[in-house]
Amino acid sequence: SILWQARFFTTVNHLRDLPGLQVPEVAFAGRSNAGKSTAINILCNQKKLCFASKTPGRTQHINYFSIGGAHVAQHRKDATRVDEIRALLVDLPGYGYAEVPGAAKNHWNQLLGNYVQKRDQLSALILIMDSRRPFTDLDRQMLEWYAPTGRPVHCLLTKADKLNRNEATNALRLTNTVLASYTDEHGVPFPFTAQLFSSLKRIGIEEADAKIQQLTGL
Ligand code: GDP
Repeated sequence: SILWQARFFTTVNHLRDLPGLQVPEVAFAGRSNAGKSTAINILCNQKKLCFASKTPGRTQHINYFSIGGAHVAQHRKDATRVDEIRALLVDLPGYGYAEVPGAAKNHWNQLLGNYVQKRDQLSALILIMDSRRPFTDLDRQMLEWYAPTGRPVHCLLTKADKLNRNEATNALRLTNTVLASYTDEHGVPFPFTAQLFSSLKRIGIEEADAKIQQLTGL
């Protein structure tokens, strides 16, 4: 997969520092512990591209990974190679840590909210939810921010290895129903898809890979 070319590109802690590249961005969002880091690593076929930040209250960053022409970090200002970058994968800070102090929580709510509402380059959102407890309040908040943009969402229902067949079917059905209830300001639902996913048992990896490539225009 072309996603296997993913390389660390940059870390951003303020909206003003978002990369200036005019290439499609696909952003991964999810509650902390939903399995986002593991999913990105599996999809990119790399063990340690992302590591989960396990420390509550730690400053959260947006991490960028580049696809194509990417074997150079942005700070090296290698313009020709940066020009070869075809897409960016964006690892948004995990949300929902219980013990984060108010100020840090506000900072990252703003960062997340502004990014998903206003980022022109954002071409799709990959929403990572634990298949056993999808649509927490913060997942819904994320969708409320994002839905008015009318851009596509693809949901990965992670840890599907923990569900039996019946539970899996129900989780997928519920997800499609809830996603269909979000509309843009004209009452039009955004384009959405959802699938079961397991990094552990390698369920749904090819499907997710194909979907992400399609949404990124790769
Ligand atoms: P993040 O906070 O969303 O980045 O979550 P992580 O990727 O760090 O995963 C959180 C926990 O869930 C870790 O203990 C993982 O080992 C576990 N996990 C991740 N993916 C799976 C999966 O597909 N199946 C199961 N059973 N556990 C998983």
